[in-house]
Amino acid sequence: MTAESTLRADIVEVGRRMYARGYTASNDGNISVRLGADRLLMTPKSVCKGFMTPDMMCITDLDGRKLQGDRDPSSEMLMHLEVYRQRPDAQAVVHAHPPTATGFAVAGIALDRPVLAEVLTTLGSIPIAEYATPSTRELPAAVRTYIKAHDGMLLANHGALTVGSDLYSAYYKMETIEHFARISLVARLLGRENLISRDEVMRLQDLRGAYGITAPAPICADDGIRGSEPATCQVVQAPPGGGGSRLVPDTLRPSAVSDAVPPAPGARAGITGLAPSSPAEADGCEIRLTYRELSALIQEAIRSLR
Ligand SMILES: [Zn+2]
Repeated sequence: MTAESTLRADIVEVGRRMYARGYTASNDGNISVRLGADRLLMTPKSVCKGFMTPDMMCITDLDGRKLQGDRDPSSEMLMHLEVYRQRPDAQAVVHAHPPTATGFAVAGIALDRPVLAEVLTTLGSIPIAEYATPSTRELPAAVRTYIKAHDGMLLANHGALTVGSDLYSAYYKMETIEHFARISLVARLLGRENLISRDEVMRLQDLRGAYGITAPAPICADDGIRGSEPATCQVVQAPPGGGGSRLVPDTLRPSAVSDAVPPAPGARAGITGLAPSSPAEADGCEIRLTYRELSALIQEAIRSLR
């Protein structure tokens, strides 16, 4: 097989896997790879990624002009072109709507807490690019903010985007994002996340070289965005201090109510008087308190001890 026919077959296979894993529905998603210095091989618009054939692909130049193919290139071609312009090292771009990661993108919750070592070494953090109308020039502009420093990002109210040094590398990053999102969701539903400390995060970053991982930017603890400037580092919300991990129950953080999964109706209990209606319900439900409510409960307990 020639290099081009191999890449066509690889795009078909990655599309099949994305559809089989539920990362796309109907005709969602798109995939592209570099085909030499100034040409791209790209999925066509309006096809299901689970049922593509190698002959369906389009060849375009880096300005988006179609050079070959019976079909028109992907409706998200502008986003792909922007990624290749900003990232000369990127050999492939994958876009999909994996449901859990996209749920985080809809909720406006970035995947930037240090929870899994593998995610920290490979992707660092996964920010959310601002909402933009799909297929318009707004979307490349939103992606531009993060793409120089990140190999993967969420797209607000839309999906996720990954790049890689080859097609499978870009695809596996999409798998990593969805897997990470599922684990994060479970941890948050359980009510706490055991965060990796900032010192440990930096140690993991130093190991990138030993693992042969080339990241586009270093991990940092502070916001890398300055005004409208593109991000220059991968911001991770790591707690300061060394010596391993720290238990951070979501339910005790003042901001938890706004940035975590909201409690189910009736699951709230405590001094606000919204107690469960029966003991059985009380056994099974999770109790969420605001910081103020928790402080009041503690003060009340101290008073009763006196
Ligand atoms: Zn999309």
